[in-house]
Amino acid sequence: MSPIKSDLAAAVGNTPLIRLRHASEMTGCEILGKAEFMNPGQSVKDRAALYIIKDAVARGKLRPGGTIVEGTAGNTGIGLALVGASMGYKTVIVIPETQSQEKKDMLRLAGADLVQVPAAPYKNPNNYVRYSGRLAEELARTLPQGAIWANQFDNTANRRAHVEGTGPEIWEQTGGRVDGFVCAVGTGGTLAGVAEVLQPKGVKIALADPEGAALHSFYTEGTFDMPGSSITEGIGQSRITANLDGLQPDFSYRIPDAEALPIVFDLLEHEGLCLGGSSGINVAGAIRMARDMGPGHTIVTILCDYGTRYQSKLWNPDFLREKGLPVPGWLDRAPASIP
Ligand code: PMP
Repeated sequence: MSPIKSDLAAAVGNTPLIRLRHASEMTGCEILGKAEFMNPGQSVKDRAALYIIKDAVARGKLRPGGTIVEGTAGNTGIGLALVGASMGYKTVIVIPETQSQEKKDMLRLAGADLVQVPAAPYKNPNNYVRYSGRLAEELARTLPQGAIWANQFDNTANRRAHVEGTGPEIWEQTGGRVDGFVCAVGTGGTLAGVAEVLQPKGVKIALADPEGAALHSFYTEGTFDMPGSSITEGIGQSRITANLDGLQPDFSYRIPDAEALPIVFDLLEHEGLCLGGSSGINVAGAIRMARDMGPGHTIVTILCDYGTRYQSKLWNPDFLREKGLPVPGWLDRAPASIP
């Protein structure tokens, strides 16, 4: 294989697996993080973006100069905008105004037109996903080069990115010596796609759900209860998306922010890994899974995105205090800027 990537799209995926030292030592397991923040758009969602674009092109829906419309918590939009730019497509992104300023800034830098909407539950017709579907229909009618709706939640090209990419990569990188896989769900593409590859090979699959999401109650009790809330972005689902279809996790955990955030802080302080909040939910899930499975197992999880995307929230002591969340001493003492 040539060491030169032909374009940005060719640089998506094939991310390293990194051993998480503290989590491994604490549990007697090997806990490995798939470093998805090393994708060109600094998140796991570059994979889904690329597959959704390639699928729409292959089916003749996305034509040269066409526009991609999507409702996203940010990362999918960044992936679509960057991969889209490299292939000559425009992007229009609908985002809840509650998402981090850094993600919105990055979307604008990447050339996306941004539509901000108030955060609203899925059943509300003005929810960002449903709004983006209507906008896509309108732009498909009015723009000369046409438009498509990426529809990451129910477009299974998203899941295929993990069936063909993430899942086989984990199997090869561990030489088949992997006992468990765990992660949180936004669309479900990552969890269900990796499960589709690894579960038939005997690997146990676990869901790590944040508070305020309904999947833990669905997979354990068959009901959609969503107690509590979370500051983590990009995860927390209240319905069975098309990407989740058929998933049957072996274990399920509901992880409070107060358990996940100290892990994110510790990973930066002691292991140099600068991550977003969903990675903390995932590593907390891996630690719980290690305790359930017992020492000596290898458990893989996802390090979803890079932490600088949340400088004004997760890495801001005032924000954390306001939410009643733990603030690590070193973060509180860190100078805001060098004089
Ligand atoms: N973490 C972050 C930061 C995300 O943006 C997303 C996707 N919205 C996820 C995790 C979940 O990935 P998936 O959509 O594949 O379930």
